[in-house]
Amino acid sequence: MVAKKKDIRALTREQLREFFESHGEQAFRGNQVYEWLWQKSAHSFDAMTNLSKETRKKLDDYFVINHIKVDQLQRSSDGTIKNAVRLHDDLVVESVLIPTKERTTACVSSQVGCSLDCKFCATARLKKMRNLNPDEIYDQVVVINNESELYFNRPLSNIVFMGMGEPLMNYNNVLKAIDKITSPEGLGMSPKRITVSTSGVPKMIRKLADEEVKFKLAVSLHSAIEEVRTSIMPFNATFNLKELRDSLIYWYSKTKSRITYEYVVWEGINDSDKDIHALIEFCRFAPSKVNLIEYNPIDDSDFKQASEASVNKYVEALEQNGIVVTVRRSRGKDIDAACGQLANKSL
Ligand code: SAH
Repeated sequence: MVAKKKDIRALTREQLREFFESHGEQAFRGNQVYEWLWQKSAHSFDAMTNLSKETRKKLDDYFVINHIKVDQLQRSSDGTIKNAVRLHDDLVVESVLIPTKERTTACVSSQVGCSLDCKFCATARLKKMRNLNPDEIYDQVVVINNESELYFNRPLSNIVFMGMGEPLMNYNNVLKAIDKITSPEGLGMSPKRITVSTSGVPKMIRKLADEEVKFKLAVSLHSAIEEVRTSIMPFNATFNLKELRDSLIYWYSKTKSRITYEYVVWEGINDSDKDIHALIEFCRFAPSKVNLIEYNPIDDSDFKQASEASVNKYVEALEQNGIVVTVRRSRGKDIDAACGQLANKSL
């Protein structure tokens, strides 16, 4: 017997093969277990029916499968589903299924809490507790894929890393999870259907570019004026707009993938002509489009969604300058499942 059991999903396929070899069994058992763990998302060793009882017992002696558990499922009147997901150490994150006519999107978390301090975001008020492991990110996708089949009779079509946390501050684990999601040994999804949303960490954007990743990048811009951005996203004082801009130019030069800028228009904060012009200038640096998202109010905050007229002014000005712009309405607001509202409130 071993003192502390290890998380089996931290092992690579090769390490699993080695485990079997060093325990007097054939290496191919490692492949079988790997398939159970990832492709079939087995929750227990007993489910691995092509292994003998003794082999399953051996695995159980050495390892655990730390599968996430959905503690609570809430359904919004618009069909959106929010899962409160409990991790093996009892911490909780949230993930959301967003159905539309054409697609089902999973919005997943990458960290418990967040280390950034965006003034308008509910998650920022939770302390960052820890990074999620690749398997904890992967499991959220599997859970939502199953829910999509169950409630909407179709598989998941898209994934956005727009839940709790800053994905690029948990770079390695997020990339490992995406590897599994896109691999035929995992879910086999196309990377083109995955979007990683970042508040903008220039060094990490460069790293993604160097690795020539195939998924899409969204940047939460919210302002293209240095002082304004720093006032609402204080970390911008460290990762400033110039560095962000240069990293995005680099990203495009390497990946040829258009960047999406996420942008909320707030009354009295970024609704002036000067703000609009700064955004238009910023959009010229690299091929991009703008996604104007609706503000989801969070408790006692000073932010207020700008009027429809102000948003329309943005839309017109961007379009006149040949920039693609979409206006996105919030989903799942009634259950606090919309952007920036994930804060484990219901627990
Ligand atoms: N940390 C990452 C991903 C999580 S936030 C990022 O910053 O991109 C996902 C999106 O929701 C971001 O664009 C974020 O700026 C936006 N957001 C945060 N709080 C919001 C709120 N209260 N209303 C609307 N959007 C919000």
